[in-house]
Amino acid sequence: MRGKAGVITGAASGIGRAAAVLFAQNGAKLALADMNQAELEQTTRLVEEAGGEVFCQVVDVAEEEQVRALIDEAAKRFGQLDFICNNAGITGKMATLETEDPADWLRVYAVNVLGAMFGCKHAAPHLIARGGGAIVNTSSVAGVRAGAGGNAYSASKAALINFTRTAACDLGQFNVRVNAVCPGLIETGMTKPVFDYARQAGKEAKLGSRCELRRYGRPEEIATAMLFLASDESSYITGQALPVDGGNTCS
Ligand code: NAD
Repeated sequence: MRGKAGVITGAASGIGRAAAVLFAQNGAKLALADMNQAELEQTTRLVEEAGGEVFCQVVDVAEEEQVRALIDEAAKRFGQLDFICNNAGITGKMATLETEDPADWLRVYAVNVLGAMFGCKHAAPHLIARGGGAIVNTSSVAGVRAGAGGNAYSASKAALINFTRTAACDLGQFNVRVNAVCPGLIETGMTKPVFDYARQAGKEAKLGSRCELRRYGRPEEIATAMLFLASDESSYITGQALPVDGGNTCS
């Protein structure tokens, strides 16, 4: 990634933070974005400690103008843009069909689907101008199979997988690759309530039981897949949704 510059959203926590540190360790220049300013600044310090050239911006990815401004600022400061990781995401409320809240669905879609679309839309001209680049969207096993995170979350992550494919079809002719990672259960801020509950109930061993490796994952294990898909190591891969899930979706 040396000589490459890009954007990572949802960088204040979990998978986004791990990706930011790993990308910086591999030489990338980074623009980091999140809504959580204090934790975003903490990630920025970690990236600096890793020797990375970095700046951060508070952004709500559901707001198109904020996403556009972030991307344009990154391209201006670094003089180039090579990749974007559209990683910010939310779960929304856990609900049954009887209790589904349309407002909650709209917010989940605005962040998980529109947020990634805005990232693709506004990064694409910069990547095309560079002669190519990479987009990595963070979907989920919940977008592949039912049963994790609630209906709105699951539907939004499935939408993100197919958007990844359609964007890959649009941008392939410009040598811009678009892929997704589909993490299984990872211990992050998002899943803290699940982990807290399981630990309190003495059921921690059950947390990893839905996948073949019989354990939950670490954010760093998703970050390595994101790095691969953002780098030239994956130069002939586009339009794919890569499960990084310990085998959760293989049976
Ligand atoms: P996390 O909550 O630790 O990190 C998500 C980050 O996104 C947070 O820092 C949050 O502030 C930020 N964010 C939320 N809404 C935003 C918005 N509108 N604009 C900007 N930033 C926003 O969770 P994580 O697990 O690291 O999640 C990262 C991605 O991985 C998400 O897309 C999530 O859906 C996906 N994912 C997580 C798991 C898991 O088990 N943790 C599994 C599959 C997929």
